[in-house]
Amino acid sequence: QAKARGRNGYSFYTPSMTGEGVERLRLETFLRRSIEKDEIFLNYQPQVDIVTGELVGVEALVRWNHPELGLVPPVRFIPLAEDTGFINQLGQWVLREACRQMVRWQEAGLVVPKIAVNLSVKQFERGSIVNMVADTLHETGLEPARLQLEVTESVIMNTDDAMVFINDLHAIGVGLAIDDFGTGYSSLAYLKQLPVQTLKIDRSFIKDISTDVNDEAIAIAIIQLGKSMNLSVIAEGVETVQQAEFLVRHGCHLAQGYLYSKPLAADVMLTNWQK
Ligand code: C2E
Ligand code: MG
Ligand code: MG
Ligand code: MG
Repeated sequence: QAKARGRNGYSFYTPSMTGEGVERLRLETFLRRSIEKDEIFLNYQPQVDIVTGELVGVEALVRWNHPELGLVPPVRFIPLAEDTGFINQLGQWVLREACRQMVRWQEAGLVVPKIAVNLSVKQFERGSIVNMVADTLHETGLEPARLQLEVTESVIMNTDDAMVFINDLHAIGVGLAIDDFGTGYSSLAYLKQLPVQTLKIDRSFIKDISTDVNDEAIAIAIIQLGKSMNLSVIAEGVETVQQAEFLVRHGCHLAQGYLYSKPLAADVMLTNWQK
C-alpha cells in the first residue's frame, strides 16, 4: 500500500516503479548519508615484487558497511555514486583518507612506497580534479611521487581534455596507472602521448593463464608492450603460484592478488607487513 501522497491526494507510487527501482532509491538515499554516518572506509591491497616478496605499494579500495544492508560491494555502489554525482564527494574522501593513511603508517614505522587510488570518469568530467589532488597532497603532506592514480582506458577515451588533465596531474608529480588494461574500448595511440608509468593487466587475462592460450598471448603482449615503452607492468588478481611463475617467466615482476594478500584494514596492514 502506497503511503506517500501528494497535495492532491494522489499517490507518488506508480506501477512503473518496480521493486528494482525502489531498491535503487533506497540504496541512493542510504549512500548519500554514508560518509557523514562513518560507514565508508578503505581497505588496502598489497602490491608485491613476485621474486623478492617485497612490498612495493598498496591499492586503496573503498568499502561501505551499512547497518542494515551490511557490506555493499563497490561494483554495486560506485555506479550509483557516479549516476547521482555523489562520486565527487566520495572520491575526495577516498583520496584524503588514502593520503592520510600513508602518513599514519609512516609514523607507525611501516614504509609503504606508494599508494594507488582509483579515479572515476565522472571525477574528470567535473574538471576540478587537478586542484582537488593538489590540495589533498598539500593538506596531508604526502609526497606526490608516492601517489599513483588509477584510471581505466574509458576515462582516457571518453573525457574531453583527458590529455590536459593527465598532463597537469603529471606536472604535480603524481603517477598514473592504466587500470584493467586491455579490457577497454580504446586505441593504443594514447599511450605514447600520455605520461603513464604503469599498466595493470586485468584479472580476466590472468585468471585462465595456463589453460587458455589466448589469455596467455594477451598477457605476454601487454608485458612486452610495457617493456618496450619503458612502463612498469603489474598483474591483477594473481591467485596461484602457477600464475606468478608464468608472469616472472615472461618478465612481469609485479603482482597484486589473493596469493599475496586480500585487501586489508589499515591496522592489519601494519601487523602483517611491518618488518
Ligand atoms: P579494481 O580497481 O580493478 O580493483 C581490483 C579488484 O579486484 C578489487 O575488488 C580487489 O579486491 C579485487 N581483487 C584483487 N585481487 C584479487 C584476486 O586475487 N582475486 C579476485 N577474485 N579478486 C581480486 P573490489 O575492492 O571489489 O573493487 C572493485 C572495483 O571497484 C575496483 O576494481 C574499482 O574499479 C572500483 N573501486 C574500488 N574502490 C574504488 C574507489 O575508491 N574509487 C573508485 N572510483 N572506484 C573504486
Ligand atoms: Mg584499481
Ligand atoms: Mg583493476
Ligand atoms: Mg579489474
